[in-house]
Amino acid sequence: MTNQDNATSLYNILRRERERGFDDRAVIGGMDKFLERFADDLAPYLRGPARYASMSADERSAWADGVVGRMRDAGVSVRHRSAPTTDARTPAPTQAKKPPEQPRKRRSAPRKPPAPSRPLRMSDDVTLIKGIWRKALPLLHKLGVRTVGDLVSLYPGRYNDFTDVRPVSQLSPGDDQTAILTVWEATQTMLRKQKSTQAVLSDHTGNVRAVWFNSPWIAKQLKHGARVALSGKVSVYRGNLVFQSPEYEILDGDGPPANVDSLTPVYPLTQGLSQRALRTAVKRALDACLPQVEEFLPEDLLHRAGLIGLRNAVDQMHYPDDWDALRAARRRLAFDELFLMQLSVLRRRNEWREEGAGIPISVNAAALEKFLGSLPFDLTGAQSRSLQEILADIRSDRAMNRLLQGDVGSGKTAVAAAAMLAAVNDGKQAALMAPTEILAEQHFLTICRLLADPEETSTLDPEGIHIQTLPVAGAGRRITVALLLGAQRKRVRDDVRSMLSAGMVDMIIGTHALIQEGVNIPNLALAVVDEQHRFGVLQRAALRDKGERPHMLAMSATPIPRSLALTVWGDLDVSLIDEMPPGRLPIRTRFVESDRRAAAYAFVRKEVEDGRQAFVVCPLIEGSEVIQTSAAQEEFERLSEHIYPDLSIGLLHGRMSLKEKEAVMDDFKSAEIDILVSTPVVEVGIDVPNASVMLIDGAERFGLSQLHQFRGRVGRGEARSHCLLLSESPGAEAMTRLKLMERVSDGFQLAEEDLKLRGPGDYLGTRQSGLTSLLVAQITDQDILSLARREATRLLDADPELVKAEHRPLAARFEEYAANLAQEVS
Ligand code: ADP
Ligand code: MG
Repeated sequence: MTNQDNATSLYNILRRERERGFDDRAVIGGMDKFLERFADDLAPYLRGPARYASMSADERSAWADGVVGRMRDAGVSVRHRSAPTTDARTPAPTQAKKPPEQPRKRRSAPRKPPAPSRPLRMSDDVTLIKGIWRKALPLLHKLGVRTVGDLVSLYPGRYNDFTDVRPVSQLSPGDDQTAILTVWEATQTMLRKQKSTQAVLSDHTGNVRAVWFNSPWIAKQLKHGARVALSGKVSVYRGNLVFQSPEYEILDGDGPPANVDSLTPVYPLTQGLSQRALRTAVKRALDACLPQVEEFLPEDLLHRAGLIGLRNAVDQMHYPDDWDALRAARRRLAFDELFLMQLSVLRRRNEWREEGAGIPISVNAAALEKFLGSLPFDLTGAQSRSLQEILADIRSDRAMNRLLQGDVGSGKTAVAAAAMLAAVNDGKQAALMAPTEILAEQHFLTICRLLADPEETSTLDPEGIHIQTLPVAGAGRRITVALLLGAQRKRVRDDVRSMLSAGMVDMIIGTHALIQEGVNIPNLALAVVDEQHRFGVLQRAALRDKGERPHMLAMSATPIPRSLALTVWGDLDVSLIDEMPPGRLPIRTRFVESDRRAAAYAFVRKEVEDGRQAFVVCPLIEGSEVIQTSAAQEEFERLSEHIYPDLSIGLLHGRMSLKEKEAVMDDFKSAEIDILVSTPVVEVGIDVPNASVMLIDGAERFGLSQLHQFRGRVGRGEARSHCLLLSESPGAEAMTRLKLMERVSDGFQLAEEDLKLRGPGDYLGTRQSGLTSLLVAQITDQDILSLARREATRLLDADPELVKAEHRPLAARFEEYAANLAQEVS
């Protein structure tokens, strides 16, 4: 033992002595023995022999104070053996028995763990908050809380309105309501085959039951006699009132937990973390940091937009005075989020414009006319209009940044192909990037077929299938189109790459493989990104960087709700194909319960017997492509052997080679296959006008936009088409989706509904979009969004670089936001 260790031991012994009331039993053999043994080491703190045994308790206390004081002065490092951070709910042992007398003079050095001598800051680690104990840390991390500031912006999910606590006698079925009750009993029980909790509670007006499905642990927390606040929906079951999985909070004493006259925050919890502990921690963070919350919006903006101050808003968000105050707080904080997002989007657009000249493409209109004339159809009005907008953009030396939006089957590919051809006819290169290999392959085949002059050829070269050299109407030469995928054999990939960088490939179509290092597209003048919401901002930028400021065209087959288009893609100009190719009948969509499966199969058979064809999409299975493929294989076998042994069934899955897929698709097109079974991965691009039924198995597992995509595979011919949504016992949420599909056929309307139902998650291929930073704002907050857009535009018009003095705090806040956004890159 070193000198220092002995001193620390003495310190700990004295502490325990104090806890014990100085009974001289903290160390075996007594204090005097201990002091004697280490007299040399301890001499500097003792001032002579102590004769502890003969002192009174008071004398011992005073003596101990002196010793500890001298130790601190000498800088002895004092380590506690118990964890310095203790659970706020269990009092530390030191407090259990108070020392008989407080030390007369307290030195300033803290007895406590090394708390910072300065006030807490937002950036401080959350552990510096008193009462955050070690066990809670991983739970807080789960909630995304690491710093004190994270707690300040951990906004309540809802509020308990203790101003409106109802006695049991006044509870009414159906409403959300709060009651303060005493627990009679709480037991674990099986409900709906799940371990659950059931409880009986009461107040002086009556009894009420509560059940929590699938949450057996709650039974242990609700002790007999405990007072709890329950908050939630009440229903009637067998004549009794029952709280259905209510929020619950175990209360301290007799009263409500916090100020009775205000709304009490209810924070999002994670299992193991109690509402009360979290509330205390947030309160401490708020108390310490609220004064540090600084306004960053300019005064005139606040005034114009009718927004309350930031500090006030944060405060009211946690502890609102009333519902109106809460609304004002929410509005302010939602505005902040959307405003910063708009600033970032608009700045990106301005930067794009200022970056300098793009590559003007000289469009040979006559050549393009010839090509369009070679297509088996005329462009719709909306297609022509969109194409003209695109052509006008790419003619100019300002680089285009445009979004081509249109519902599934509206004919975006033909428009993109024409625009790409315009670039190629001017001797430049064009690229198209798709989010999956299958989509890239399908685009490749579709574009090759569209381009190939039907006067000169009708089939693709089956040999070098990844590189096609085609005669194109109006081009006056053969044009080379190539495919680049990560899954290609290395030899093929190397071929494509070297031809590409030598300028021998005119159009390149591919996946992320296009933006890998080592891919050069020296003459890239037009870059098209399909399903662009599935790429991040940076990935789109990477494609752009393959050339020198090429024109960018983003396409989306998933209709994007207007609000999202404004926010995430607010830097783009938009062309909208709001018209379907002629002669398309609306598709009849029906939800079919699985006990009607046989009827659904019979319906498909009848359509086939009438000369039509059908798609069957297999249920989505979590896991690998291999599992998904074998499930599709099984489904294929079941249908061909048992259900339709007399019909011709085909199978399409992601693990087939491009050649195999092509063969199957060709057979389906030429009607040699009646029913095509496919994995869900085959989303888009198969085009068979004679197909009139889309049967989606396990429909409850798909999102609205995906269902809509599938549905878009049919309804392309003259016959009435049908979409059957087969589903086993869909949950309430899935049921809502399926019903919507039945009712709504318009993709945009569906997208808006989807957004309301599920939030923007589905659109978040764009991780750097900033949508994940929305805590308070809803993407569907149209009014606040427009307000934010307006104010952001106004601000940037007045001060594009945010350099004016009155914008300095805003500029700083924006920097921080932009930095966080950049960090969201996966
Ligand atoms: P999107 O990519 O917008 O979902 P596609 O470009 O795949 O749609 O087009 C869907 C189908 O409609 C394709 O078979 C395409 O050949 C066809 N098509 C495109 N434009 C027209 C048109 N103007 N008239 C008839 N059919 C068209
Ligand atoms: Mg498409």
